[in-house]
Amino acid sequence: MASIRIISEKCYGCGICLGACPFGAIRIIDKKAVIQDNCTLCGACVSSCKFNAIEMTKDETGTAGDISAYRGVWVFAEQKEGKVANVVTELLGEGRKLADQLGEKLSAVLLGDGMEAAAQELISYGADNVYLVDHPSLQRFNDESYADIFTQLISRYKPEIVLMGATTYGRSLGPRVASRLNTGLTADCTQLEIDTERRLLLQTRPAFGGNLMATIICPDHRPQMSTVRPKVMKALDPDPSRVGEIIRPDVDIPLDTRVKVLETVTTLCEKVNLTEADIIVSGGRGLGDPGNFALVEELAQILGGAVGASRAVVDAGWVDYSHQVGQTGKTVGPKVYFACGISGAVQHLAGMSSSDTIIAINKDPDAPIFKVATFGITGDVVEVLKALISEFKKRLK
Ligand SMILES: Cc1cc2nc3c(=O)[nH]c(=O)nc-3n(C[C@H](O)[C@H](O)[C@H](O)COP(=O)(O)OP(=O)(O)OC[C@H]3O[C@@H](n4cnc5c(N)ncnc54)[C@H](O)[C@@H]3O)c2cc1C
Ligand code: SF4
Ligand code: SF4
Repeated sequence: MASIRIISEKCYGCGICLGACPFGAIRIIDKKAVIQDNCTLCGACVSSCKFNAIEMTKDETGTAGDISAYRGVWVFAEQKEGKVANVVTELLGEGRKLADQLGEKLSAVLLGDGMEAAAQELISYGADNVYLVDHPSLQRFNDESYADIFTQLISRYKPEIVLMGATTYGRSLGPRVASRLNTGLTADCTQLEIDTERRLLLQTRPAFGGNLMATIICPDHRPQMSTVRPKVMKALDPDPSRVGEIIRPDVDIPLDTRVKVLETVTTLCEKVNLTEADIIVSGGRGLGDPGNFALVEELAQILGGAVGASRAVVDAGWVDYSHQVGQTGKTVGPKVYFACGISGAVQHLAGMSSSDTIIAINKDPDAPIFKVATFGITGDVVEVLKALISEFKKRLK
């Protein structure tokens, strides 16, 4: 374990380190700095002390051996009921760029049952080859068997970079595999770049509540693993004439797993399918009343779109969490995004600012949402929504 301590004899209780700690984890007690229980061992305070009174020791984790033996970029091709998730084609688009910069191959890893045709499709989206493990027990995602097989494949083929969607499956699989391989994983990346000189993946993600962007590297261990949210990267147009290889590796398939998936039940919430929608109408606290949220739903229904929401109204219980857009909700990228009575807090923008067209309705002309809006309507959201509903009803009859 890493540890941190204040060297009491060197500490003058000047308090400078208090300002350096982003977590408020240092207090001055009896003229000495004292580290509190909420310290995350981030190390930000160490260099702030001019008297070298803060000492931090880190684990000696060593390196992964010969990291130059690791080559190529992999994408986890998650599937549900035999259908490959859209995030996979987005990751292949991004992975293609990274692989080309490194001069390496791009591979997809597909686990399932009867997935040959899907494997072929992954090639059309940019993969040079697909590692396909087809077995009836892999039809449904299972943390245990998927992590086991994925780890076997990485240990054998040694990819340099592994990308997964920051989806329920990817978020479950990624940490399990990274921990088994004793390597790092950066979650929820919004940007990936290559430092070609050092062959490092520069993994950028929001940090400290979205107030700054952190670029994280994994210099001593391989593979370099990232999860990426859906709708952040762009997929390539499929090219059916692309040629690639489908490899069926020989792996041990764990059949005696502790967890058995007996049934998958799609809840009503999952049918919202916010991340795939071309049009989203989102409502915020500016609607003033939970009853007015029906106007958001009505407009979405007329336009054939999905319903989104800010966290404020989700927390207030107006609408289910599955509709929340933003840093702690879903990341969306529709063709048109209506922000109705939403202020445009940085955490909300983190989930929707890549929308092609943003139409914001807000009574405050200085609301931050107008900074990212393509079209802004200043006015009472209830009145504007009623007018839009009436007009669209006429035009879309
Ligand atoms: C760690 C963390 C994670 C978070 N994650 C998310 C997230 O995922 N998604 C998210 O949305 N938020 C998130 N938040 C919360 C975020 O900071 C904001 O508090 C939230 O987005 C505000 O929601 P809002 O815009 O609906 O409400 P408000 O900020 O209250 O804004 C309401 C807006 O409506 C306008 N308005 C008021 N009355 C009217 C009217 N009659 N007509 C027109 N306009 C009107 C106001 O001018 C105002 O701009 C997070 C916060 C934290 C700290
Ligand atoms: S640890 Fe260093 S910076 Fe913090 S109070 Fe003590 S002397 Fe000052
Ligand atoms: S290590 Fe980080 S969290 Fe801990 S006291 Fe220092 S700055 Fe604060």
